[in-house]
Amino acid sequence: MEALSLAPEETDVFLTHLHSDHTGNAKELQDLGCRLLMGEKDMNYLHRMDPSIRNSRMLREGMPQEILTEVISNNPGRRYAPVPFDAETVQDGDRLSYGGYHLTCLSTPGHTPGHFCLYDRERELIFLGDHVLFDITPNISFWDGMEDALGTYLESLKSMMDLPVKYALPGHRHMGGISMRDRIIELLAHHDARLDEAERIVCEHPGINAYDLAGMMTWRIRSRNWAEFPPGQKWFAVCEALAHLDHLVLTGRITRADHGDIRYYK
Ligand SMILES: [Zn+2]
Repeated sequence: MEALSLAPEETDVFLTHLHSDHTGNAKELQDLGCRLLMGEKDMNYLHRMDPSIRNSRMLREGMPQEILTEVISNNPGRRYAPVPFDAETVQDGDRLSYGGYHLTCLSTPGHTPGHFCLYDRERELIFLGDHVLFDITPNISFWDGMEDALGTYLESLKSMMDLPVKYALPGHRHMGGISMRDRIIELLAHHDARLDEAERIVCEHPGINAYDLAGMMTWRIRSRNWAEFPPGQKWFAVCEALAHLDHLVLTGRITRADHGDIRYYK
């Protein structure tokens, strides 16, 4: 900010979503005088986030307690959790104008419940946050109060397909050598293939739990096998598998049932 001669009291900071790698020092910026803006749903989630809800679901979905304990103690999202802050909230379609740039707030739930992108129609420029990434696929997980995170995400992707975009600016890594539209087509195909894979594993192993199923899915990771996955990566893999299982259940392709403390898929 110093290098760009930005005065904090004249600087607005737009938080695309609640993840700590996007909000970790929001409070410090606010204390310097920056104005913070964010989608209302994610702001509310930050205020009432209760990790025990996610943790108890992970146990029910078959994650061993010792792995969960290790994940919790080393969770960077918790270690670098943002200091609580209050941001002004935006709604879908709100417009923000700065120095000739007119940005429309686009509600794009899925990666998080209240994710937003900022779109400049005139310049055909979009700030994507983690909604569309080019080198990696955005992590899709499950959220308390959100029945079908993956289905919601796929709808958000489709809603942006026909947006004229020349400059697609993702929140991680590179802009990619393809158009946003082509990347969206790739992401939709990716999740179709993942849904098919999860469904096939359930059919081949009726009564499987989500933790074991995650271990049978294909992952691009250096670990040789599921046992060697670092616990934190197991957490992400199980969350991603659950997003797909939730969608398969809600679209009637598979069923689930609870027996005692464990949930099984058929
Ligand atoms: Zn994120």
